[in-house]
Amino acid sequence: MTDAAFVRRPLPGFCRTLLFAASLLAALAVATSARGQDFGGPVAPSNPAVGDAAAAPGADPAAAADAVPGGVIDPNQLPPHPGGFWRGNGPGQQVGFYFALPLLALVLGAFFLWVATTAWADQDATSLKVRPEFWSTLLMLGGILGMGAIICLPNLLMGVVGYLVFAGGPLTAYIVERNARVPDSGKVMTKRHLSKVLNQWLNKVGMGLPTGGGKTEQTFGPPITFMGKSSTGNKYSTASARKVESSKGYVAAKELIYDAILRRSTDVHLEPQEEEMSVRVRVDGAMYPAEPFDRPTGEGIVNIFKVLSAMDITEKRRPQDGSFRADLDGRMIDFRIATAGTRHGEKMSLRILDQSNAVSSLQRLGMRKGLRERLEELINEPHGMVLCSGPTGAGKSTTLYASLNAIDKLQRNVITIEDPVEYQMDGINQIEINTKAGQTFAGTLRSVLRQDPDVVLLGEIRDKETAEIACQAANTGHMVFSTVHANDSITALFRLIELGVEPFMISNSLTAIVGQRLVRRLCEQCKQAYQPKPELVKKAGLPVDKIEAFYRPPRAESGACPKCGGLGYMGRVGVYEVLEINDRIRDLIRDKAAASQIRAEARKNGMLNMREEGLRLVVRGVTSIEELLKVVK
Ligand SMILES: [Zn+2]
Repeated sequence: MTDAAFVRRPLPGFCRTLLFAASLLAALAVATSARGQDFGGPVAPSNPAVGDAAAAPGADPAAAADAVPGGVIDPNQLPPHPGGFWRGNGPGQQVGFYFALPLLALVLGAFFLWVATTAWADQDATSLKVRPEFWSTLLMLGGILGMGAIICLPNLLMGVVGYLVFAGGPLTAYIVERNARVPDSGKVMTKRHLSKVLNQWLNKVGMGLPTGGGKTEQTFGPPITFMGKSSTGNKYSTASARKVESSKGYVAAKELIYDAILRRSTDVHLEPQEEEMSVRVRVDGAMYPAEPFDRPTGEGIVNIFKVLSAMDITEKRRPQDGSFRADLDGRMIDFRIATAGTRHGEKMSLRILDQSNAVSSLQRLGMRKGLRERLEELINEPHGMVLCSGPTGAGKSTTLYASLNAIDKLQRNVITIEDPVEYQMDGINQIEINTKAGQTFAGTLRSVLRQDPDVVLLGEIRDKETAEIACQAANTGHMVFSTVHANDSITALFRLIELGVEPFMISNSLTAIVGQRLVRRLCEQCKQAYQPKPELVKKAGLPVDKIEAFYRPPRAESGACPKCGGLGYMGRVGVYEVLEINDRIRDLIRDKAAASQIRAEARKNGMLNMREEGLRLVVRGVTSIEELLKVVK
């Protein structure tokens, strides 16, 4: 846990209290000791209502005294005042306050300038994590001294100089430090920043200048608009994207993202090497190298994505994660990014979640007809539990989303609990939890069950408590979908038992377990037929005499295929096995039977394992035998 965060948190708060106290103090000082003598020589006390310092020197002090109600001052006692100057709080001299308006305005102006800049710096330093408590304290002390100088020094010029030195000095030093840590576009008090601020002001009063420079930056490069998060809010907006518009590497960042999306990548990795920033993309589960960037550009790109995700850009070692969004011609694409420090600098990985790819059907996922129809029957049962198992990246959640799509969402109340929500779906309630922040699937599931759901999708079952509540929910009239991290369906069943759930609870609640993998689909345009070696066919458990041809990607020298870009594969297809829990298997689970017994019983019911299902795809030429054997061991 971040102990440092706990130690640091109270300080800015403390500084704010200090600031408030100082404000009060200064306001009091202004109210009680604003005086006129600094302004064009001695100033006689005048009625506040008059308020005209210029007229004051010639005024008769007695006139002012007369104006005081209640006759506190004995006119005889009144000395012929040499300088024509009184302190309003002199002993027994209740002459009252008197003001020199321009001076008051100056003091108030200086005061509010200090308050505003200190508040800004406090917030800015906290969000950038540039020694917030140090700078807040320094700016506070500087401001107090500066205000002191303006109020107390006898000469106005000296006062102003003192203010500029005490209050302006630390602020300048802070700006220098924070500017050194942010990309160009985030710098303040630069020519660019000032002209931008000026233009915003002019725009407000309706006389803005045409933003020539900004426009070209925006329209340059691919048609992508980034949308980022602010450090506080959770909504995406283009506001933080505007911050990075003119940063180094902005166009390169757009091109990188555009290219990755066009290549149907699911992940992009930026990895610093000694000389350059290497780029690798994952397409259909396989990694491919891409054109590297030079180090400064690469680091600029990493910085841009960190700003968009409201990450701490000064932290380059500790792992961080975040997200941003990009709009590509109206297509919304979400990015989840994670950073980590390496020997050569900070690496970053981006996971691309294309919302338009999200909602799929079981048919589109490649499930064969017989299997799909049976599974659709099972998931539309009124209650029970359907689990999806496989290693990370096997497409478990995609299958569950597709299953949800096969459910009548108008007739049934569907709630999902996800960490995090990967794809948005219409017509269902998606709840995002943060397990890193201590929220649990179990706790959230408990409260969700009180909201009268018919179908609950639970991101993952990985502990006993969650497993038990899920089983209870399935037994009390709900349909529960979830995933279990296990190699295949039978292992997933035993994973639940290993978690400590009573076998009778599992047997009562479970409907089916889907085991799955994703294999790459051969490119239809360039795949090549070949006669497989008999040993290979035998190894795959197929009848040698019945196999005419297998397919494989073209050899490298056959030239790049325009459809798949020479990869030989295009998209992926799921390989599924479905373990349906019938009464006989229920009994076996309750009796704590061995895995082999359950497997034998399932085969009796016609279940094919993943490898056998995959071979059907190989025989049909959907994928290659090499790909299948690589993925399904
Ligand atoms: Zn091809």
